Amino acid sequence: MALHRGLHNWSPVWPGHGIRILPGPSSLWFDALGRRLPAPCLPGYDTLGTLRHLRTTADLAEHDHSWFVLTQKIIEKEFALSGSEQNPDITAKDRRAFLRDRVLGKGAPAPVEAFKQHGADFVVAATLEELVSKMNALTAEPLLDAASMRRQIQARDLQLANPYSKDAQVQGIRNSRRYLGDRLGRTAAPHRLLDPAAGPLIGVKLHVLTRKSLGGIQTDLNSRALRPDGTPLPGLYAAGEVAGFGGGGVHGYNALEGTFLGGCLFSGRAAGRAAAQATAS
Ligand SMILES: Cc1cc2nc3c(=O)[nH]c(=O)nc-3n(C[C@H](O)[C@H](O)[C@H](O)COP(=O)(O)OP(=O)(O)OC[C@H]3O[C@@H](n4cnc5c(N)ncnc54)[C@H](O)[C@@H]3O)c2cc1C
Repeated sequence: MALHRGLHNWSPVWPGHGIRILPGPSSLWFDALGRRLPAPCLPGYDTLGTLRHLRTTADLAEHDHSWFVLTQKIIEKEFALSGSEQNPDITAKDRRAFLRDRVLGKGAPAPVEAFKQHGADFVVAATLEELVSKMNALTAEPLLDAASMRRQIQARDLQLANPYSKDAQVQGIRNSRRYLGDRLGRTAAPHRLLDPAAGPLIGVKLHVLTRKSLGGIQTDLNSRALRPDGTPLPGLYAAGEVAGFGGGGVHGYNALEGTFLGGCLFSGRAAGRAAAQATAS
């Protein structure tokens, strides 16, 4: 299963190690040619739909990346990175560190700041023109036009002054902040991206990342592995990701993020029960 929000890990655990961003709603998402993605291809929305858009739009076929443009204010609140080593406060169940760094904190959480400083996909600049020039330096040829990106960002920024804005992303930011948990720890207060007080500006180059296998071993409801002709292979059981429960499985192809472990555990329990029953009989 692939998605389009991967970064090169600046401190890889294995060769080619990519890290996935779990973004809040405020970063502006541009394609490789500098066009803002259409709704619902927004950060944190339809992951597979966005991947489809970026990989099937004709003039994007040869470009394997897209861009987030955001501010320091956004990265401090909205950038979470996937993986246990990127979330030491959660992994250690350290509530105080979680509150300090993610809710009350000044500055981005340490693992995010490390990516900002060392990551090959991050550029930081005080002005949009400087930012775009640094973004262009990360591709073989300069594909982005600063004036066009400025127009698009200004158009978005203007929508903040309109309480009835139809800009889907602005609506999404406002919606997200109606929930107290997201307002406190996950969604930056709406602000103009080109407001220097919210800066510096940050550009992040995003890549396609493969993340989970959709499995390969077909099973029945007792997690017995099936042969190509659909009959069980005696004594062989398959559970979890290898049987299609790590993204897909019981929750379907567009399964909601975070629902994979449940299916893995459930299919493991079915396999264990069936194996015990088979041994007993
Ligand atoms: C970064 C990341 C974040 C995720 N976050 C979430 C989340 O928030 N919520 C959620 O629900 N799901 C999440 N998932 C998905 C979920 O964690 C996996 O789908 C699930 O852990 C898969 O469990 P599994 O037991 O099927 O496979 P695995 O956990 O991959 O276990 C397979 C085991 O087999 C071992 N193995 C492989 N080959 C051999 C061999 N030849 N001999 C012996 N042992 C072998 C491996 O070392 C491994 O320990 C995430 C996945 C990733 C990668």
